[in-house]
Amino acid sequence: MITRYPTKKIYVGKVPVGGDAPISVQSMTYTRTSDVAATVEQINRLHFAGCDIVRVAVPDEEDAHALKAIKAQIALPLVADIHFNYRLALITAETVDCIRFNPGNIGEKSRIKEIVRACQERNIPIRIGVNAGSLEKEFEQRYGQSAEGMVASAEYNIKFLEDLGFTDIKVSLKASDVQRTVSAYRLLRPKNHYPFHLGVTEAGTVFHATIKSAIGLGTLLLEGIGDTLRVSITGELEEEIRVGRAILKDSGVAKEGLNIISCPTCGRIEADLVSAVAQVEARTRHIKKPLDVSVMGCVVNAIGEAKHADVAIAYGKGSGLVMVKGEVVARLDEDQLVDRFVSEVEKMAQGEE
Ligand code: SF4
Repeated sequence: MITRYPTKKIYVGKVPVGGDAPISVQSMTYTRTSDVAATVEQINRLHFAGCDIVRVAVPDEEDAHALKAIKAQIALPLVADIHFNYRLALITAETVDCIRFNPGNIGEKSRIKEIVRACQERNIPIRIGVNAGSLEKEFEQRYGQSAEGMVASAEYNIKFLEDLGFTDIKVSLKASDVQRTVSAYRLLRPKNHYPFHLGVTEAGTVFHATIKSAIGLGTLLLEGIGDTLRVSITGELEEEIRVGRAILKDSGVAKEGLNIISCPTCGRIEADLVSAVAQVEARTRHIKKPLDVSVMGCVVNAIGEAKHADVAIAYGKGSGLVMVKGEVVARLDEDQLVDRFVSEVEKMAQGEE
Protein backbone atom coordinates (compact mmCIF):
# COMPACT_ATOMS: atom_id res chain seq x y z
CA MET A 1 0.00 0.00 0.00
CA ILE A 2 1.46 3.34 -1.06
CA THR A 3 0.72 6.37 1.08
CA ARG A 4 1.20 9.58 -0.84
CA TYR A 5 2.75 12.56 0.89
CA PRO A 6 -0.04 15.04 1.54
CA THR A 7 0.49 17.97 -0.81
CA LYS A 8 -1.34 21.12 -1.69
CA LYS A 9 -3.71 20.76 -4.64
CA ILE A 10 -3.13 23.32 -7.35
CA TYR A 11 -4.73 23.58 -10.79
CA VAL A 12 -3.01 23.71 -14.15
CA GLY A 13 -5.99 24.78 -16.21
CA LYS A 14 -8.66 22.26 -15.28
CA VAL A 15 -6.17 19.55 -14.29
CA PRO A 16 -5.61 19.24 -10.54
CA VAL A 17 -2.06 18.51 -9.41
CA GLY A 18 -1.33 17.39 -5.85
CA GLY A 19 -3.60 16.49 -2.97
CA ASP A 20 -5.79 13.54 -3.89
CA ALA A 21 -5.63 14.24 -7.63
CA PRO A 22 -4.53 11.40 -9.90
CA ILE A 23 -0.87 11.68 -10.84
CA SER A 24 -0.86 13.41 -14.22
CA VAL A 25 1.44 12.75 -17.17
CA GLN A 26 3.05 15.63 -19.01
CA SER A 27 5.10 16.06 -22.13
CA MET A 28 6.61 18.75 -24.33
CA THR A 29 6.37 19.60 -27.99
CA TYR A 30 9.55 20.08 -30.03
CA THR A 31 8.37 22.75 -32.47
CA ARG A 32 8.97 26.48 -32.44
CA THR A 33 5.64 27.79 -31.20
CA SER A 34 5.79 30.48 -33.89
CA ASP A 35 4.88 27.56 -36.17
CA VAL A 36 1.38 27.44 -34.75
CA ALA A 37 0.01 24.68 -37.01
CA ALA A 38 2.88 22.29 -36.31
CA THR A 39 2.67 22.95 -32.56
CA VAL A 40 -1.09 22.41 -32.46
CA GLU A 41 -0.62 19.18 -34.43
CA GLN A 42 1.91 17.89 -31.89
CA ILE A 43 -0.26 18.93 -28.94
CA ASN A 44 -3.24 17.11 -30.43
CA ARG A 45 -1.11 14.01 -30.94
CA LEU A 46 -0.09 14.14 -27.30
CA HIS A 47 -3.68 14.64 -26.23
CA PHE A 48 -4.75 11.60 -28.25
CA ALA A 49 -1.92 9.56 -26.69
CA GLY A 50 -3.20 10.31 -23.17
CA CYS A 51 -1.18 13.37 -22.14
CA ASP A 52 -2.74 15.47 -19.34
CA ILE A 53 -0.67 18.66 -19.50
CA VAL A 54 1.55 19.96 -22.31
CA ARG A 55 4.55 22.27 -22.06
CA VAL A 56 6.10 24.33 -24.82
CA ALA A 57 9.50 25.98 -25.01
CA VAL A 58 9.35 29.72 -25.60
CA PRO A 59 12.71 30.90 -26.90
CA ASP A 60 11.75 34.35 -28.24
CA GLU A 61 9.03 36.98 -28.43
CA GLU A 62 7.51 35.69 -31.65
CA ASP A 63 7.14 32.29 -29.95
CA ALA A 64 5.67 33.92 -26.87
CA HIS A 65 3.03 35.87 -28.82
CA ALA A 66 2.08 32.75 -30.81
CA LEU A 67 0.76 31.02 -27.68
CA LYS A 68 -2.58 32.86 -27.91
CA ALA A 69 -3.34 31.28 -31.29
CA ILE A 70 -2.19 27.88 -30.05
CA LYS A 71 -4.25 28.05 -26.87
CA ALA A 72 -7.37 28.80 -28.90
CA GLN A 73 -7.00 25.52 -30.79
CA ILE A 74 -6.16 23.01 -28.06
CA ALA A 75 -7.91 21.38 -25.13
CA LEU A 76 -4.89 20.48 -22.98
CA PRO A 77 -3.64 22.82 -20.26
CA LEU A 78 -0.65 24.74 -21.59
CA VAL A 79 2.59 25.44 -19.71
CA ALA A 80 5.18 27.94 -20.94
CA ASP A 81 8.78 26.90 -20.36
CA ILE A 82 10.93 29.96 -19.77
CA HIS A 83 14.71 30.23 -19.60
CA PHE A 84 16.90 33.34 -19.47
CA ASN A 85 14.38 35.98 -20.58
CA TYR A 86 11.80 36.86 -17.93
CA ARG A 87 9.96 39.14 -20.39
CA LEU A 88 8.80 36.04 -22.24
CA ALA A 89 7.16 34.86 -19.02
CA LEU A 90 5.31 38.15 -18.75
CA ILE A 91 3.97 37.83 -22.32
CA THR A 92 2.97 34.19 -21.98
CA ALA A 93 1.41 34.64 -18.52
CA GLU A 94 -1.50 36.37 -20.27
CA THR A 95 -2.35 33.12 -22.05
CA VAL A 96 -1.04 29.97 -20.45
CA ASP A 97 -2.18 27.83 -17.52
CA CYS A 98 1.20 27.68 -15.77
CA ILE A 99 4.68 29.14 -16.06
CA ARG A 100 7.76 27.01 -15.56
CA PHE A 101 10.94 28.92 -15.00
CA ASN A 102 14.42 27.83 -14.14
CA PRO A 103 15.57 29.98 -11.23
CA GLY A 104 19.19 29.31 -12.17
CA ASN A 105 19.05 31.30 -15.37
CA ILE A 106 16.36 33.97 -14.92
CA GLY A 107 18.78 36.29 -13.15
CA GLU A 108 17.91 39.09 -10.72
CA LYS A 109 15.21 38.46 -8.16
CA SER A 110 13.36 41.58 -9.31
CA ARG A 111 12.63 39.65 -12.52
CA ILE A 112 11.18 36.72 -10.63
CA LYS A 113 9.05 39.23 -8.72
CA GLU A 114 7.58 40.42 -11.98
CA ILE A 115 6.83 36.87 -13.10
CA VAL A 116 5.10 36.22 -9.77
CA ARG A 117 3.03 39.38 -10.09
CA ALA A 118 1.92 38.39 -13.61
CA CYS A 119 0.92 34.91 -12.41
CA GLN A 120 -0.90 36.33 -9.40
CA GLU A 121 -2.92 38.61 -11.68
CA ARG A 122 -4.09 35.64 -13.75
CA ASN A 123 -4.27 33.21 -10.87
CA ILE A 124 -2.02 30.64 -12.53
CA PRO A 125 0.60 28.47 -10.82
CA ILE A 126 4.37 28.49 -11.18
CA ARG A 127 6.65 25.50 -11.44
CA ILE A 128 10.04 26.15 -9.91
CA GLY A 129 12.03 23.94 -12.25
CA VAL A 130 15.46 23.35 -10.76
CA ASN A 131 18.01 21.58 -12.98
CA ALA A 132 21.31 20.29 -11.59
CA GLY A 133 23.13 21.55 -14.67
CA SER A 134 22.02 25.16 -14.29
CA LEU A 135 21.96 26.04 -10.61
CA GLU A 136 22.37 29.63 -9.44
CA LYS A 137 26.07 30.44 -9.02
CA GLU A 138 25.96 30.69 -5.23
CA PHE A 139 24.44 27.23 -4.85
CA GLU A 140 26.72 25.61 -7.39
CA GLN A 141 29.80 27.16 -5.73
CA ARG A 142 28.68 25.90 -2.35
CA TYR A 143 27.29 22.47 -3.21
CA GLY A 144 28.41 21.69 -6.75
CA GLN A 145 25.73 20.17 -8.98
CA SER A 146 24.59 17.92 -6.15
CA ALA A 147 21.18 16.96 -4.79
CA GLU A 148 21.91 19.30 -1.86
CA GLY A 149 22.53 22.17 -4.30
CA MET A 150 19.25 21.48 -6.10
CA VAL A 151 17.35 21.38 -2.82
CA ALA A 152 19.01 24.60 -1.60
CA SER A 153 17.97 26.35 -4.81
CA ALA A 154 14.41 25.05 -4.58
CA GLU A 155 14.06 26.05 -0.93
CA TYR A 156 15.42 29.50 -1.59
CA ASN A 157 13.03 30.09 -4.46
CA ILE A 158 10.03 28.63 -2.65
CA LYS A 159 10.68 31.03 0.22
CA PHE A 160 11.11 33.91 -2.22
CA LEU A 161 7.69 33.19 -3.76
CA GLU A 162 6.07 32.62 -0.36
CA ASP A 163 7.40 35.98 0.87
CA LEU A 164 5.56 37.55 -2.06
CA GLY A 165 2.38 35.82 -0.93
CA PHE A 166 2.51 33.28 -3.77
CA THR A 167 1.86 29.64 -2.91
CA ASP A 168 0.43 28.07 -6.08
CA ILE A 169 3.74 26.34 -6.56
CA LYS A 170 4.95 23.02 -7.86
CA VAL A 171 8.55 21.98 -7.83
CA SER A 172 10.85 19.84 -9.93
CA LEU A 173 14.42 18.82 -9.13
CA LYS A 174 15.87 17.22 -12.20
CA ALA A 175 19.27 15.73 -12.85
CA SER A 176 20.34 13.50 -15.71
CA ASP A 177 21.17 10.60 -13.41
CA VAL A 178 18.82 8.61 -11.27
CA GLN A 179 20.64 8.76 -7.94
CA ARG A 180 20.90 12.54 -7.72
CA THR A 181 17.32 12.94 -8.89
CA VAL A 182 15.93 10.53 -6.31
CA SER A 183 18.11 11.99 -3.53
CA ALA A 184 17.00 15.54 -4.28
CA TYR A 185 13.28 14.74 -4.22
CA ARG A 186 13.69 12.67 -1.06
CA LEU A 187 15.60 15.47 0.67
CA LEU A 188 13.09 18.16 -0.20
CA ARG A 189 9.88 16.16 0.30
CA PRO A 190 9.52 16.44 4.10
CA LYS A 191 10.34 20.16 4.03
CA ASN A 192 7.20 21.53 2.36
CA HIS A 193 3.76 20.56 1.11
CA TYR A 194 3.96 21.68 -2.52
CA PRO A 195 3.24 19.17 -5.28
CA PHE A 196 6.25 17.67 -7.04
CA HIS A 197 6.72 17.30 -10.76
CA LEU A 198 8.96 14.24 -11.20
CA GLY A 199 11.44 13.63 -13.97
CA VAL A 200 14.92 12.42 -14.80
CA THR A 201 16.08 14.96 -17.33
CA GLU A 202 17.94 14.31 -20.59
CA ALA A 203 17.37 10.61 -20.01
CA GLY A 204 18.32 9.48 -23.51
CA THR A 205 16.74 7.18 -26.06
CA VAL A 206 13.52 5.25 -25.50
CA PHE A 207 15.43 2.27 -24.10
CA HIS A 208 17.61 4.17 -21.63
CA ALA A 209 15.01 6.77 -20.71
CA THR A 210 12.51 4.04 -19.94
CA ILE A 211 14.94 2.30 -17.62
CA LYS A 212 16.15 5.48 -15.90
CA SER A 213 12.63 6.80 -15.46
CA ALA A 214 11.23 3.48 -14.30
CA ILE A 215 13.94 3.24 -11.63
CA GLY A 216 13.93 6.90 -10.61
CA LEU A 217 10.27 7.80 -10.86
CA GLY A 218 9.20 4.32 -9.82
CA THR A 219 11.28 4.51 -6.64
CA LEU A 220 9.82 7.87 -5.71
CA LEU A 221 6.24 6.88 -6.54
CA LEU A 222 6.53 3.78 -4.37
CA GLU A 223 7.61 6.07 -1.53
CA GLY A 224 4.53 8.21 -2.04
CA ILE A 225 6.49 11.06 -3.66
CA GLY A 226 5.23 12.71 -6.84
CA ASP A 227 2.11 14.44 -8.09
CA THR A 228 2.80 14.79 -11.80
CA LEU A 229 5.56 13.50 -14.05
CA ARG A 230 7.31 13.73 -17.34
CA VAL A 231 9.41 11.01 -18.91
CA SER A 232 12.08 12.76 -20.94
CA ILE A 233 12.88 10.80 -24.11
CA THR A 234 15.01 11.52 -27.16
CA GLY A 235 12.36 10.10 -29.44
CA GLU A 236 8.78 10.43 -30.53
CA LEU A 237 6.21 12.32 -28.47
CA GLU A 238 3.84 9.41 -27.90
CA GLU A 239 6.60 7.32 -26.29
CA GLU A 240 6.84 9.75 -23.36
CA ILE A 241 3.16 9.26 -22.62
CA ARG A 242 3.24 5.51 -23.14
CA VAL A 243 6.20 5.09 -20.77
CA GLY A 244 4.83 7.57 -18.22
CA ARG A 245 1.47 5.82 -18.07
CA ALA A 246 3.17 2.42 -17.86
CA ILE A 247 5.29 3.58 -14.91
CA LEU A 248 2.18 4.73 -13.08
CA LYS A 249 0.38 1.50 -13.84
CA ASP A 250 3.23 -0.91 -13.16
CA SER A 251 4.20 0.81 -9.92
CA GLY A 252 0.60 0.27 -8.81
CA VAL A 253 -0.04 3.99 -8.46
CA ALA A 254 -2.67 4.17 -11.20
CA LYS A 255 -5.20 1.60 -12.20
CA GLU A 256 -5.88 1.91 -15.88
CA GLY A 257 -5.58 -0.32 -18.90
CA LEU A 258 -4.44 -3.89 -19.18
CA ASN A 259 -1.93 -5.52 -16.90
CA ILE A 260 -0.59 -8.15 -19.31
CA ILE A 261 0.98 -11.21 -17.76
CA SER A 262 2.88 -13.23 -20.35
CA CYS A 263 5.49 -15.90 -19.93
CA PRO A 264 9.05 -15.53 -21.25
CA THR A 265 8.63 -18.78 -23.27
CA CYS A 266 10.94 -21.75 -22.95
CA GLY A 267 11.63 -25.09 -24.60
CA ARG A 268 8.09 -26.27 -23.86
CA ILE A 269 6.51 -23.62 -26.10
CA GLU A 270 4.63 -24.91 -29.14
CA ALA A 271 3.04 -21.65 -30.34
CA ASP A 272 4.15 -18.23 -31.59
CA LEU A 273 3.65 -16.49 -28.28
CA VAL A 274 5.84 -13.48 -29.07
CA SER A 275 3.64 -12.45 -31.96
CA ALA A 276 0.45 -13.23 -30.02
CA VAL A 277 1.43 -10.97 -27.11
CA ALA A 278 2.48 -8.19 -29.49
CA GLN A 279 -0.95 -8.39 -31.15
CA VAL A 280 -2.73 -8.39 -27.81
CA GLU A 281 -0.78 -5.35 -26.67
CA ALA A 282 -1.41 -3.40 -29.88
CA ARG A 283 -5.10 -4.28 -30.09
CA THR A 284 -5.92 -3.46 -26.47
CA ARG A 285 -3.88 -0.29 -26.01
CA HIS A 286 -6.99 1.91 -26.20
CA ILE A 287 -8.68 0.16 -23.26
CA LYS A 288 -8.72 2.25 -20.09
CA LYS A 289 -10.52 -0.13 -17.75
CA PRO A 290 -8.04 -1.85 -15.42
CA LEU A 291 -8.02 -5.54 -16.27
CA ASP A 292 -5.59 -8.36 -15.51
CA VAL A 293 -5.03 -10.61 -18.49
CA SER A 294 -2.63 -13.48 -19.06
CA VAL A 295 -1.21 -14.93 -22.26
CA MET A 296 0.81 -18.04 -21.48
CA GLY A 297 2.73 -20.46 -23.62
CA CYS A 298 1.68 -23.83 -22.17
CA VAL A 299 -0.37 -25.46 -19.46
CA VAL A 300 2.46 -25.50 -16.91
CA ASN A 301 1.57 -22.06 -15.50
CA ALA A 302 -1.28 -20.98 -17.76
CA ILE A 303 -4.13 -22.43 -15.76
CA GLY A 304 -2.75 -21.04 -12.48
CA GLU A 305 -2.37 -17.54 -13.95
CA ALA A 306 -5.76 -17.76 -15.66
CA LYS A 307 -7.47 -18.34 -12.30
CA HIS A 308 -6.50 -14.80 -11.25
CA ALA A 309 -6.90 -13.17 -14.64
CA ASP A 310 -10.00 -11.49 -16.02
CA VAL A 311 -9.28 -12.95 -19.46
CA ALA A 312 -6.60 -15.47 -20.38
CA ILE A 313 -5.19 -17.57 -23.18
CA ALA A 314 -3.48 -20.90 -22.49
CA TYR A 315 -1.63 -22.07 -25.59
CA GLY A 316 -1.15 -25.74 -26.43
CA LYS A 317 0.07 -27.47 -29.58
CA GLY A 318 -1.76 -25.86 -32.53
CA SER A 319 -4.70 -24.84 -30.33
CA GLY A 320 -5.52 -23.43 -26.93
CA LEU A 321 -8.06 -22.22 -24.42
CA VAL A 322 -9.63 -18.82 -23.84
CA MET A 323 -10.66 -18.37 -20.25
CA VAL A 324 -12.76 -15.70 -18.55
CA LYS A 325 -12.51 -15.34 -14.77
CA GLY A 326 -10.89 -18.76 -14.63
CA GLU A 327 -13.59 -20.55 -16.67
CA VAL A 328 -12.93 -21.99 -20.13
CA VAL A 329 -15.17 -20.19 -22.65
CA ALA A 330 -13.59 -21.50 -25.87
CA ARG A 331 -11.23 -24.16 -27.16
CA LEU A 332 -9.91 -22.89 -30.52
CA ASP A 333 -7.23 -23.33 -33.16
CA GLU A 334 -4.12 -21.24 -32.52
CA ASP A 335 -4.90 -18.67 -35.24
CA GLN A 336 -8.33 -17.88 -33.69
CA LEU A 337 -7.24 -17.42 -30.10
CA VAL A 338 -6.16 -13.76 -30.16
CA ASP A 339 -9.37 -12.64 -31.93
CA ARG A 340 -11.56 -14.34 -29.35
CA PHE A 341 -9.40 -13.13 -26.49
CA VAL A 342 -9.59 -9.51 -27.71
CA SER A 343 -13.35 -9.72 -28.13
CA GLU A 344 -13.72 -11.03 -24.54
CA VAL A 345 -11.49 -8.20 -23.29
CA GLU A 346 -13.55 -5.63 -25.23
CA LYS A 347 -16.77 -7.03 -23.76
CA MET A 348 -15.38 -6.86 -20.28
CA ALA A 349 -14.04 -3.33 -20.82
CA GLN A 350 -17.55 -2.26 -21.80
CA GLY A 351 -18.95 -3.95 -18.72
CA GLU A 352 -20.77 -6.70 -20.63
CA GLU A 353 -19.08 -9.68 -19.00
S1 SF4 B 1 4.24 -21.11 -19.40
FE1 SF4 B 1 5.09 -22.92 -20.42
S2 SF4 B 1 6.10 -22.10 -22.25
FE2 SF4 B 1 5.80 -20.40 -20.88
S3 SF4 B 1 7.71 -20.28 -19.76
FE3 SF4 B 1 6.28 -21.46 -18.52
S4 SF4 B 1 6.72 -23.57 -19.03
FE4 SF4 B 1 7.66 -22.31 -20.66
